[in-house]
Amino acid sequence: MDKKSLKIENTALSEERLLNWEKVQERLKDNMGQQIYSSWLKNIRLLKEYNHYVILGVQTRFFRDWITSRYADKILDEIKKHKLSINRIEFQIQEDKSDNKAIFSNAPEGNISDIKDSILNYNRLNPNLNFDNFVLGESNKLAYMSAKKICTQLSRYNPLFIYGGVGLGKTHLINSIGLKLREENNVMFISAERFMYQFIKSIKKNEMVKFKDFFRKANVFIIDDIQFIRGKEGLQEEFFHTFNSLFDKSSQIVISSDRAPNKLDRVQDRIKSRLSGGLVVDIGSPDYELKLKILKKKITEFESTFKEYPNLHESVVDFLAKDPNSNIRELIGVFNRIVAFSKMSKKQLNVNDCKIILKDVYKNSKVITIEKIQNVTSNFYSLNLQEMLSQRRSRPLARPRQIAMYLAKKLTTRSLPEIGRKFANRDHTTVIHAVKTIDKLCSTNEEIKKNVEDIKSIILSD
Ligand code: ADP
Ligand code: MG
Repeated sequence: MDKKSLKIENTALSEERLLNWEKVQERLKDNMGQQIYSSWLKNIRLLKEYNHYVILGVQTRFFRDWITSRYADKILDEIKKHKLSINRIEFQIQEDKSDNKAIFSNAPEGNISDIKDSILNYNRLNPNLNFDNFVLGESNKLAYMSAKKICTQLSRYNPLFIYGGVGLGKTHLINSIGLKLREENNVMFISAERFMYQFIKSIKKNEMVKFKDFFRKANVFIIDDIQFIRGKEGLQEEFFHTFNSLFDKSSQIVISSDRAPNKLDRVQDRIKSRLSGGLVVDIGSPDYELKLKILKKKITEFESTFKEYPNLHESVVDFLAKDPNSNIRELIGVFNRIVAFSKMSKKQLNVNDCKIILKDVYKNSKVITIEKIQNVTSNFYSLNLQEMLSQRRSRPLARPRQIAMYLAKKLTTRSLPEIGRKFANRDHTTVIHAVKTIDKLCSTNEEIKKNVEDIKSIILSD
């Protein structure tokens, strides 16, 4: 360590002893319970420590928002017990790997490195993606019927080419085909990416003969996400030969793609035309009815797995099904989140709660800013913004001002001092007072409660 950094370290130390983060975490575990701790708090890291504040690292934006809205005060209180001078915490996102699995603390963790790098191991069908749990709607009916058809009449449509946008059920469908046909056939299921990888590796290791033999043994060859087959002419040539030799012995070929065959770029024309030579069907975006059916199915699955009803109000289910932007994968992800939250908070969530929880899911939703909260609130009370922010203390001005501060605290991740500054440079204690006052009023005064809810809806709805 050089002299300079030693000096900085010493200054920090001399101010007060350093925070013992493990201790803080232990105390949080004791106070908040194992479940909340392991779901939300365990993975928080202490990144930087200053005299008056600390920077904590969290995995995702979503974690940050959730922790800020629920536990930030408690974390700060606990930190203060260990180091009095700290009066603020800030969160920094370390890595954005939004993964719905993460919120189910007991989700099985696949150990990828355990999977041996062999061709055989790529031939994996997922038993959970089958025809029985594939929900039918207008957008996927044709693809589903074609998939079923080839299971009873092998090579009738060859190849079967299914295309559509992400998260619409392509992998689910072709996996179902594999499961069904595996009963009586030699099925090979592989993603195009893996296929290419294996292909190149075999060339390098001079194992092309082995590679080809291996694939040619299949009489059902299913390849997922073919749009990834691209690249050098030679490679495509080899792929084409493998493909043709499968054809020649009437193996059934099933292909999924994110676009139609003629739209595949950097793929030779004759490959494209061969791909289009059988039956080409598309899966479209799900409509409201299909989404509703899928959600209902998920609820039933949840019930039979956990032996309890996921505490979802009908309006919430309806709200989720109505989102025109989401695909099926997102829909299921969102459902899982909402259910996990409702379980953890032990209450039935309403549509507004969901909007807050899902803030980061909806790509089109804008970030909620303090300015926006101020504008909506002052409009709601027909006040001029400057009036609302002014130093005047009359109640018709002070209440809306407090409500705006309250919402700024609840709906954004801004710190108290930051909020204070945006309200004509008020002190953070004024913000604390506002939050407490409105919190209290919401439980005693129906009108205020309703106003707060209405303002919140307006803020969240556009
Ligand atoms: P794609 O391959 O088109 O990107 P997937 O097949 O991986 O999409 O589907 C995404 C998720 O949505 C999966 O969990 C899948 O099981 C589910 N899913 C998609 N379509 C349906 C459907 N019709 N019924 C039930 N689940 C579906
Ligand atoms: Mg897929």
